[in-house]
Amino acid sequence: MLIVQKFGGSSVADAEKLRRVAGIIADTKKAGNDVVVVLSAQGDTTDDLIAKAHELSPDPNKREMDMLMSTGEQISISLCAIALQALGVPSISLLGWQVGMKTNSDYGNARIKTLDQERIRRELEQGRVVLVAGFQGINKHDDMTTLGRGGSDTTAVAIAAKMHADLCQIYTDVEGVYTADPRLVPTAKKLKEITYDEMLELASMGAQVLHNRSVELAKRYGVPMEVLSSYVRKPGTIVKEVTKEMEETKISGIARDDKIARIALVGLKDEPGIAYKIFRVLAREKINVDLILQSIGRGNTKDISFTIPKSELEHAAQALRAEQDVIGFEHINVTDKISKLSVVGAGMINRPGVAALVFEALAAAQVNIHMISTSEIKISVLIDAENADVAMRAVHKKFFEE
Ligand code: ADP
Ligand code: ASP
Ligand code: MG
Repeated sequence: MLIVQKFGGSSVADAEKLRRVAGIIADTKKAGNDVVVVLSAQGDTTDDLIAKAHELSPDPNKREMDMLMSTGEQISISLCAIALQALGVPSISLLGWQVGMKTNSDYGNARIKTLDQERIRRELEQGRVVLVAGFQGINKHDDMTTLGRGGSDTTAVAIAAKMHADLCQIYTDVEGVYTADPRLVPTAKKLKEITYDEMLELASMGAQVLHNRSVELAKRYGVPMEVLSSYVRKPGTIVKEVTKEMEETKISGIARDDKIARIALVGLKDEPGIAYKIFRVLAREKINVDLILQSIGRGNTKDISFTIPKSELEHAAQALRAEQDVIGFEHINVTDKISKLSVVGAGMINRPGVAALVFEALAAAQVNIHMISTSEIKISVLIDAENADVAMRAVHKKFFEE
């Protein structure tokens, strides 16, 4: 079998952990498999590198940031190769460019275009374990790019897809995918399996256990994925197209996103074209808008509010204020003290009542809802950040503990 294994930052944080990881890899290899390993930077390395840049500039150049951030993974793969060789396992470490990981030029959030598997194949044929630096690639100018925070998962799935691997294992610091982040909800339960669609919603709605683009890729190419622990050797959670329990369980998990902000434009004219005037400004500034709420007109005015990434709040507010006369709002309200709670489950298709249960749990916990949004397999509510912990536990209790 060809197995791709990815180990996250906390799993490779120090020599002892690297030795443990090397042990897992060595066992997989000794069982007769070809093994490609993708590693993240050790511990908080990426955060530390970003902090170093900000000591020097409030707005560092994006190309240079990728040059900087991509160094973390180089340390992990070379150290891990050294650890494996110490165990007598032939191995070689390779950077993104050495495995032909070509991306577009969107520094800090680059997308993979192509991957050349020749070098990896050649090394595997020599009987080596191949260690690839996660999170990085090169663009058409041969400059370093990175895939966005958490992007090593996507490196692993891309390699697994391209090389038709039999399994892509994502080793991390929890034992699998849970019904909620086990750090926020101690009673969360580990799932045996979950569908790509559900996992994609959970990841996109803030469950950082998998990079959402890795799930997107896994679904598109049908890569079987497993999320499991680097510390305890037992089966994790399988991510695949269809699960056995899909029809029975309404809900597979709850996710929470605290990295959002809300802008409200108050006193807009109640006439055609207003939404266009607002959202074309945000599109021009490349700001992603998530939830949108428009009030019913009263008299001649209406309000529109929407959420955006927290990191874009200042930028968005500035751009909108600059166009106040064109858009024609009376005033603008902004807050980043909000949180989005999402309930995800393929079983809610054609099953009324899931939303009512969410609202019942929130009402009992005295949590006020600002916005609501639904899709086929998801219900999201926007609430005050100060209520997020209580709300998450209340909703989890309603679906999984009653
Ligand atoms: P890695 O460094 O291995 O990539 P991450 O920190 O990116 O690890 O992801 C693992 C973390 O994801 C866990 O420690 C956990 O706190 C968080 N997490 C959020 N939602 C979930 C969930 N539904 N199931 C499991 N873990 C979750
Ligand atoms: N080291 C990168 C980050 O911290 C990539 C990853 O961990 O997946 O975001
Ligand atoms: Mg991660």
